[in-house]
Amino acid sequence: MTITSFIPPHRTLMGPGPSDIYPQVLQALSRPTVGHLDPLFIGMMDELKQLLQYAFQTQNAFTIAVSAPGSAGMEACFVNLVEAGDKVLVCRNGVFGERMRENVERCGGVAIVVDNEWGTAVDPDLVEQALQNDPEIKIVAFVHAETSTGALSDAKTLAEIARKHDCLTIVDAVTSLGGVPLLVDEWQLDAVYSGSQKCLSCTPGLSPLTFSQKAIDKIQQRKTKVQSWFLDQSLVLGYWSGEGKRSYHHTAPVNSLYALHEALVLLQNEGLENAWQRHRNAHEELKAGLEKLGIKFVVEETSRLPQLNAVYIPEGVDDAEVRNELLQRYNLEIGAGLGVLAGKAWRIGLMGYGARSENVALCLKALETTLK
Ligand code: PLP
Repeated sequence: MTITSFIPPHRTLMGPGPSDIYPQVLQALSRPTVGHLDPLFIGMMDELKQLLQYAFQTQNAFTIAVSAPGSAGMEACFVNLVEAGDKVLVCRNGVFGERMRENVERCGGVAIVVDNEWGTAVDPDLVEQALQNDPEIKIVAFVHAETSTGALSDAKTLAEIARKHDCLTIVDAVTSLGGVPLLVDEWQLDAVYSGSQKCLSCTPGLSPLTFSQKAIDKIQQRKTKVQSWFLDQSLVLGYWSGEGKRSYHHTAPVNSLYALHEALVLLQNEGLENAWQRHRNAHEELKAGLEKLGIKFVVEETSRLPQLNAVYIPEGVDDAEVRNELLQRYNLEIGAGLGVLAGKAWRIGLMGYGARSENVALCLKALETTLK
């Protein structure tokens, strides 16, 4: 049998990510590949750093894109900042908080877990109490936008509490970057990672990452080598430094970085505030329509993410059958529930290019006809 080219259909991606990619980003991806140490490419990487600084709202000199997906950004934070024996407070209110705990343990650290009910935001009072109980904790880790439940936590307040107790913060902004306010410098967050495939509407496989000076200082004071060669950010620094001394670390995913550059140019041209508002508007439209269908949200209104709408599957409805029908009849993907919400909830994404009235209308029409 001769295998032929893979030509996928045109889906509308309204799950938890990847989201629909901007056409301009797909075009950027197909531009001619240049060498990754070509002066033109180095110039593009310098621009990419500036664009990422804008997206993160930071002046942090260490602001890069890890050449691997969001999970690698997560791991980069933990392997660089946590040494054996370090105590880390992990806030767990969904799947990704649990992954943070796993990361701490794999670094030989001691994870102190603050559990919050799935579908709720991280409770700052619980964090305060835990830090009061154990002055040896050095880092507070939390997920800003928990994709598994659609809950948004108050990163500003959590970081304030962490600072009061002399702790650094590790913040998962995979689903928040570009979709809701994330002000890295104003909120004084220390190590923040994201993903290219959510509200940036870029191809999956890159992880924007930024470290504050305090985070860099901690890395420089390490007593032991970072156990991962690839994710040791002190080695990556030479590769991303803007001082013309670029040294080889790994072969950059050249075309993927063109795509990220393009996605960030689009974000810059739209303006962050406008992008946040667009996500909010799309969410309001979706919410009004879902309520008419009698569908209820998992997360209470005050901590609901506009870009990730977790809703309860109506009683008597077959989860997999409906999602399959949407895929087959409407080329529309919505997400299944994860973890404790598996089989109980759907996750409807309105991320990046997907946060548009057309998408909302398609999803509502498809659900209305399928659920009849
Ligand atoms: N953190 C959060 C909150 C996520 O939603 C995801 C992916 O969905 C990740 C981390 C992991 O990112 P990736 O799948 O790109 O490795």
